Amino acid sequence: MKIQVITLFPEMFEGVLNTSMLRKAQDKKLVEYKLINLRNFGIGPRKQVDDTPYGGGDGMVLRVEPLLAAVQHAMSSIRQAQDRSVTNRQSLVVLMTPRGKKFTQAKARELSRIDNLILVCGRYEGYDERVTSFIDEQISIGDYVLTGGELPAMVVIDAVTRLIPGVLGGTTSAVRESFAQAGVVEYPQYTRPEKFRGLKVPKVLLSGHHAEVEKWRTGQQRKK
Ligand code: SAM
Repeated sequence: MKIQVITLFPEMFEGVLNTSMLRKAQDKKLVEYKLINLRNFGIGPRKQVDDTPYGGGDGMVLRVEPLLAAVQHAMSSIRQAQDRSVTNRQSLVVLMTPRGKKFTQAKARELSRIDNLILVCGRYEGYDERVTSFIDEQISIGDYVLTGGELPAMVVIDAVTRLIPGVLGGTTSAVRESFAQAGVVEYPQYTRPEKFRGLKVPKVLLSGHHAEVEKWRTGQQRKK
């Protein structure tokens, strides 16, 4: 899977993409991340990417031309790869926006099956609405406003990457965890010590009785 991010602040991604699972996923060649600096597609000698909003109002709005040029650049790198590939690869351009559809585990699973994902990060007061004519989907990570689309894009990248087959260690990790089934969360987990400040690990988990453990876990999932 290839995930490309269009952003004015590529440096924000370094720590997140190069730590733990996301680093390992790249090392195992299960995913490739590419950061595209929107500034490179800016207009004129000052590489302008934003302008004041028509109709007045606070702040600046990202212009449509640099955004579209960056999306086209991302698409062209996919097309070159496609020419060399025998498979019919699938790609999707997603705009991060508080006005988008709420991100869920089901959406993360759906996106993890896409070969080429392009995430577009807004900034300032947002983007020229006409950019929505050139993207496939709009995603929000929740009903609150962040400074830019970078943190939302990182949330999507993390949730999607860990669902790519081979990224998580065990085969059941992604199957039994929270939201693997709609509305169902994971059972409580315990590790050593057996007793901590009077708090004990449930006896059934120490029993070695797999069927009983399974019954308890399913019951707890329902309860939670
Ligand atoms: N003026 C916009 C509004 O009221 O909807 C908010 C713009 S926000 C400061 C700048 C950018 O951050 C947005 O264009 C979007 O790309 C991103 N962003 C902010 N909150 C987000 C959220 N909850 N989900 C996804 N993207 C978000």
